[in-house]
Amino acid sequence: FSTSVRQVRTPTGERRGATLAYQEVTDLMRALAVKDEFVASVSHELRTPLTAVLGHLEMLTESEDLTPQVRRQLDVVRRNALRLRSLVSDLLHVAQAHAGSLEIERDSVDVVCLVEEALEAAGPAADAGGVTVVADLPDALEALVDAQRLRQVVDNLVSNAIKYTEPGGETTLRLGSVDDTLELGVHDSGIGMSAAEAAQVFTRFFRGSGALDRHTPGTGLGLTIVRSIVDAHGGTITVDSEPGRGSSFHVRLPGALLT
Ligand code: ADP
Repeated sequence: FSTSVRQVRTPTGERRGATLAYQEVTDLMRALAVKDEFVASVSHELRTPLTAVLGHLEMLTESEDLTPQVRRQLDVVRRNALRLRSLVSDLLHVAQAHAGSLEIERDSVDVVCLVEEALEAAGPAADAGGVTVVADLPDALEALVDAQRLRQVVDNLVSNAIKYTEPGGETTLRLGSVDDTLELGVHDSGIGMSAAEAAQVFTRFFRGSGALDRHTPGTGLGLTIVRSIVDAHGGTITVDSEPGRGSSFHVRLPGALLT
């Protein structure tokens, strides 16, 4: 950006100094805020017709007089519509987070049950990728969190752990507590990444070389959303990783536990 400099003189015309104007920064920030609002409202508007498309597709596939070829084609349409919906909702969340309007609604949540449901949902992807999922969960753990958002955190971390692990590998999810802090760790024995890449994983649209080389599907938005949800809860997330040896993500939410 450019700056403008103006000289300041006394009434008699002597030079007394200069003022430096950073007007462009304010303009740029305003433009970025308008862009975030635009992305947020467009993504929001796109969700309604997409939901209608998916609803009708669901009804169509229930019909019994479809030829196998039509069924296959409908399946392709459905998978792409689902992908589009998930992309649209990722964009919405990122724009909201960037605009500082990602709101959370805390409720008393059975976190063990939430994690178990997330692992069950991840089952088919783990089976397809040949990855064993191990859960290390306490008998019970109740916390004051936003259930839907925390589920997004677990879904994203587990889905990445599976996506970036070769067949035969393992993913471990650990849930626990220290004082009033909820602790969640997702470890995998996967492809890992360099320290330089690990430092960038929470940046919007960042995709590591492992993801690009293996053509792993993704948008580079998942961890950005995860971090903004963790931030909105007043928590922290860290990553430890080593190329070829795997990655560990640790989420800590202080004050989340009902004691
Ligand atoms: P996406 O998976 O859609 O690319 P994310 O924001 O979830 O987007 O992750 C950003 C990048 O971080 C990924 O492209 C990948 O390079 C790297 N990454 C994330 N999780 C892992 C993991 N468990 N193991 C190795 N690399 C990972």
